[in-house]
Amino acid sequence: MELCDLTAHHLLSLLKTKEINAQQILDSISQRIKKVENQIKAFVRLDSNRFPVETINQHTITTSCEKILDGIPVAIKDNICTENFLTECCSQILQGFRPPYDATVITKLKEAGAIILAAKTNMDEFAFGSSTENSCFGPTRNPWDKTKVAGGSSGGSAAAVSASETILAIGSDTGGSIRQPACFCGVVGMKPTYGRVSRYGLIAFASSLDQIGPLAKDVHDCALLLQVIAGYDPKDSTTINIEVPNYIAALEKDIKGITIGIPKEYFVEGIDEEVKTIVYEAIEELKKLGATIKNVELKHTHYAVPVYYIIATAEASSNLARFDGVRYGLRLESENLISMYSKTRGRGFGAEVKRRILLGTFVLSHGYYDAYYLRAQKVRTLIKKDFEDVFKYVDCLVTPTSPTTAFAIGEKVNNPLQMYLSDIFTISANLAGVPAISLCCGFTKNKLPVGLQIIGKAFDEEMLFRVAHAYQMHTQWHKQKPPL
Ligand code: GLN
Repeated sequence: MELCDLTAHHLLSLLKTKEINAQQILDSISQRIKKVENQIKAFVRLDSNRFPVETINQHTITTSCEKILDGIPVAIKDNICTENFLTECCSQILQGFRPPYDATVITKLKEAGAIILAAKTNMDEFAFGSSTENSCFGPTRNPWDKTKVAGGSSGGSAAAVSASETILAIGSDTGGSIRQPACFCGVVGMKPTYGRVSRYGLIAFASSLDQIGPLAKDVHDCALLLQVIAGYDPKDSTTINIEVPNYIAALEKDIKGITIGIPKEYFVEGIDEEVKTIVYEAIEELKKLGATIKNVELKHTHYAVPVYYIIATAEASSNLARFDGVRYGLRLESENLISMYSKTRGRGFGAEVKRRILLGTFVLSHGYYDAYYLRAQKVRTLIKKDFEDVFKYVDCLVTPTSPTTAFAIGEKVNNPLQMYLSDIFTISANLAGVPAISLCCGFTKNKLPVGLQIIGKAFDEEMLFRVAHAYQMHTQWHKQKPPL
């Protein structure tokens, strides 16, 4: 094993005892990128001739080890603003966009001593997608099987962690974009509670659903990274001003006596038999560790996908109105303003983005607003209430993260509905605003990772870390490495 294959918490202990230094970690990452990136394509605009890989804040590499992530490399998704460093959302319309400021999560990472890699990770354009195939730079490949997708939209971040091209990564999740790629690539990913992490500097997709979150090799690392990025931010009025608990301390607690709910709506037809069996085995394991298992219902689950695609597209159509050729990125000159707008937007946006702007504009239009948007909001409230009701009796819920393992590149590109359905198990947590984590719980016969999702009460990320960590302490799945 190379240094790049180790977890952040392991590397931090080696740094503390001065067995290694931060530069060696970065060199190891560089070597790995050089070796595998051509096959994986986890990063965008990466100049493979510029090695060792550069960092945004190289000058801060210290040997002090005083701060929580001192010397640990972190890769950032292309929709999170980094001051003066290209941030294009993998869209042609943002070509050449250099944000004038850092997102709050970037500021926090720098303050924590993390090393920000100067290469953004690949994603579906504007985070619209489940496979990273909607990126204007082409798809990321799954490190476990390069003919398969890495998932999306944070596919680059998940693949980079899985292939050890970074130690930690940041993604964003609007309907599953951290958890589903984490599941497909066999790593850990968490969508925190809505309001737990600042969205300041995250290029907005659907503002009432978006959250930034961590991707890591194990639960301990995931907790470390959330510890750094979580917290109230006066620059984001939707963050909540409550104390951030000590997530590392939460890892120490066992799970004897906790109650885990199994929602029956998540084990219905359409789910791959092998995935189902492997997830049931993981539930048995949790039982052995002392948890009580209880069957529960989330009655409105089957409305989640349609409700999401109304609300998310409505918000996206409005958020993307700002990309007009005047203020950001691409601009195609033309004889008058209106034709400049339409040329720029016509050329700058990819097919899926246009589809969503059309859908979103439609559901918000006069005459349809009440029938679609308003109704979807009401059903969203019912979905949220399902969770509130069930959390009166259980401490968390366990489900598969995705109904299938990673699918083939190209398999769903011409069938948007099929693609939308791959988020069927992750979307509800965004609609309800509750936190959820995905971790690997086994492999299929074809050696593809299967993901276990744990969903918790609002602001109870501690419970998710506790259950997921207890599981990893008694299993070995998270230690498996893809064949590179
Ligand atoms: N795949 C979902 C979509 O396309 C979720 C994307 C996300 O979470 N950003 O909308």
